[in-house]
Amino acid sequence: MADRIFRAPGRVNLIGEHTDYNEGLVLPAALDLFCEVRASRRTDALLNASALNLNSSAFWKTLSIPSARPRGDWSDYVAGTAQQLERRGIKVSALNLAIRSDVPLGAGLSSSAALEVAVGMALVSYSGRTLGGAELAKACQQAEAEFVGLQCGIMDQFVAVFGRRGHALLLDCRTLEHRLVPLPAEVELVMVNSGVRHELASTAYNERRRECEAAVRILGRSLRDVSIAEWPDAESALPEPLRRRARHVVYENQRVLDFVAACERRDLTALGRLMRDSHHSLARDYEVSCFELDFLVETAAAIDGVVGCRLTGGGFGGCTVNLVRPGSVESFRRKISAAYCRRFGHEPAVYVCSSADGAREIAA
Ligand code: ADP
Ligand code: MG
Repeated sequence: MADRIFRAPGRVNLIGEHTDYNEGLVLPAALDLFCEVRASRRTDALLNASALNLNSSAFWKTLSIPSARPRGDWSDYVAGTAQQLERRGIKVSALNLAIRSDVPLGAGLSSSAALEVAVGMALVSYSGRTLGGAELAKACQQAEAEFVGLQCGIMDQFVAVFGRRGHALLLDCRTLEHRLVPLPAEVELVMVNSGVRHELASTAYNERRRECEAAVRILGRSLRDVSIAEWPDAESALPEPLRRRARHVVYENQRVLDFVAACERRDLTALGRLMRDSHHSLARDYEVSCFELDFLVETAAAIDGVVGCRLTGGGFGGCTVNLVRPGSVESFRRKISAAYCRRFGHEPAVYVCSSADGAREIAA
């Protein structure tokens, strides 16, 4: 029988940072970098997965998937997804899965969610059952959180499923309501990877989560439910640094809504200002930026054709996201790489992307 190919995209978050675990709003876009899974039936009772990027393969007896245990490597993303699907009544078939991705692994563009969702879609499809997109995203997120053991929100898997070419995805992390937002045609998405990941990252992440929880306890409500108008009152109840942390979250939610409105009226100036405000808020109030990211943002802001730029992801390293006019992309790449290299002694990886469609089966 013919092979079938399923693919799911990586993503970048345009705005709405550290809002996900505060029941807030995020605005990611799916990127035209994909994880592709080529699937074919086997006649034995094995699920076999080959990671072509890593030159590694792994297999499981299909009957053992409900009781599979993590092995501590890439194959956990596959087994975890399969196990979550079994829990939802999807029987995993005996298959070969050849996995190949052009989402860079571990660069902050969510190769992990692309892998889970592409594998998940293949497994569901061969089971002969159907599963809604939101359920597929949740199964994949649970695979990563519970089986792989990495705490992550639902954003990555959601946009890997529901992203659409020419659009970003507004996602309410409290209700999981989502809608597509048209992106202005005059911009490309350019990610610059600082190539650093400071030690502080995971301890600071946990600390910020605790600080937000403490602010919520004092205020008696979710930061999501504090409007800008109510902020002056809320603020006076909070000691530092909780006040600064909460301020970031409250204003960042509003910035997401303002960004969506600016996209809809194609106001590039407003997009740029909102990204800059988001970055400064993350740097000064939330204190999750670092020297390299600040350097990339300051340098980019001074380059011709850059509409907006900010750090993206948790911070302390990883990528910046830049909205760049198509005619300026190549000179932007050259200039930002040269400046970064002069300052830090190594070239950053630069990814020039368009927004893309979410997971689907493609012609083999
Ligand atoms: P990110 O999602 O930002 O790329 P993560 O650390 O969350 O970074 O996920 C990267 C991990 O996901 C890799 O180390 C690997 O275990 C797994 N992974 C992602 N894509 C692939 C792939 N194509 N083949 C095998 N493993 C992959
Ligand atoms: Mg990931």
